[in-house]
Amino acid sequence: MQKNIKIALDGPSGSGKSTIAKRLSKELDILYLDTGAMYRATALKALKTGIAPKDERSVSEFIDKLDLKIKYENGSQQTYLDGENVSDKIREPQVSMAASDISSLKCVRLKMVEMQRKIASETSCVLDGRDIGSYVLPDADYKFYITAGVDVRAQRRYKELKEKGFDVDFDKLQKEIEERDYNDSHREFSPLVKAKDAIEIDTSNLDVEGVISAVMSYIKKR
Ligand code: C5P
Repeated sequence: MQKNIKIALDGPSGSGKSTIAKRLSKELDILYLDTGAMYRATALKALKTGIAPKDERSVSEFIDKLDLKIKYENGSQQTYLDGENVSDKIREPQVSMAASDISSLKCVRLKMVEMQRKIASETSCVLDGRDIGSYVLPDADYKFYITAGVDVRAQRRYKELKEKGFDVDFDKLQKEIEERDYNDSHREFSPLVKAKDAIEIDTSNLDVEGVISAVMSYIKKR
């Protein structure tokens, strides 16, 4: 394995990026950075302080002082906000929509991207997100764009949330995913796009092993 390898995994919500990224980080013994967790934690801060996630002026007032830390405990990413481990809290459904809203603000993205680039500069890693290959790490060694039909993605998210004990309505969840897709791909600054040099993998009809073997076959080829 080459030294200081960077892998970018982008794609819409629920396409399976995080499952793939976690497995890749184990297979290749490199760090995994879930960048969505950072936007989620920022959204949680806004929700906790009663600030609307789209209120750019108020968000820009707290963003530079944001006490957000990413730590690795027993090999797994833990997200800390104001000293509290919020790794579970940021998965709550209302945080998802707020994260999508707050992530459209330029001041938020600039701050997150700076943190992400710093973490990535220190070690070999796989980052998953929306703009990793196109903006955060344009020189990444490997770029993958992971997609799946919206119905498949909604089913995956539904199962995941149900397993975590959340009470979710499938139709509402699918609508929210569609709304997040729209927000993420239409925002002005660093939207969700497939980087020109990214390899697209549609996971609609693939299981995790199928996707991992497709991704690994590209990595081994080079
Ligand atoms: O991936 P996840 O669903 O946890 O991300 C939550 C939200 O954070 C996304 O809907 C998206 O709006 C935002 N995000 C982003 N750029 C990234 C990662 C996530 O805008 N690199």
